[in-house]
Amino acid sequence: MALLKILGVRVDKVDMMDSLCFVDSFIQAGRFHHIITLNAEIIYRAQSDDSLKELINSADLVTPDGSGIVWAARYLGEPVPERVTGIDLMLEICKQAHHNGWKIFLLGGAPDVAAEAAEKLREEYPNINIVGTHHGYFQESEEKDLLVHIDSLKPDIIFVALGAPRQEFWIRRYRDSLPVKVAVGVGGSFDVVSG
Ligand code: UDP
Repeated sequence: MALLKILGVRVDKVDMMDSLCFVDSFIQAGRFHHIITLNAEIIYRAQSDDSLKELINSADLVTPDGSGIVWAARYLGEPVPERVTGIDLMLEICKQAHHNGWKIFLLGGAPDVAAEAAEKLREEYPNINIVGTHHGYFQESEEKDLLVHIDSLKPDIIFVALGAPRQEFWIRRYRDSLPVKVAVGVGGSFDVVSG
């Protein structure tokens, strides 16, 4: 896959259609994949955090989320096709899930926000299979039970809305405990979707 590096941080030259093809192939492959939607703030943080840089550079797909990325890519003479934001990617994946039955779990946001976002998504995509939701204000001591709960529901995809880059570290930390084939950090997207 074509990629470029901005200040040592990798971005894949993908548009939404490419990204959805990757999601499909990740699910077909049947093992864990981490997708990051990258913005300039995260690149900035990665300059002083090698573990964040390594995490991004070893993810399975890194989409150009922020307008700053699009600008920087053009400036470097390596333009990316379009922005692929976390919320747009989440909604497009949900549209696909409505057609093909992928099981989805929503994790993050204030109490009730993930559940309200799930309700809105079910209104928009009636056949969507959201197997569970959980808010994002849990203690570390509660994580084991949460992971057991998620595992019991066997989602194909988890959207994690804990804010960047915390959600990226959380996904990385628990990649071996999550039963999903695709994990995507989506920032404040549940707040937007829940209205
Ligand atoms: N959040 C959470 N748990 C926390 C802190 C934040 O679930 O301990 C949620 C918060 O409710 C919000 C999202 O994470 O829904 C962060 O949104 P923000 O727009 O700040 O994130 P960004 O898009 O900038 O990464």
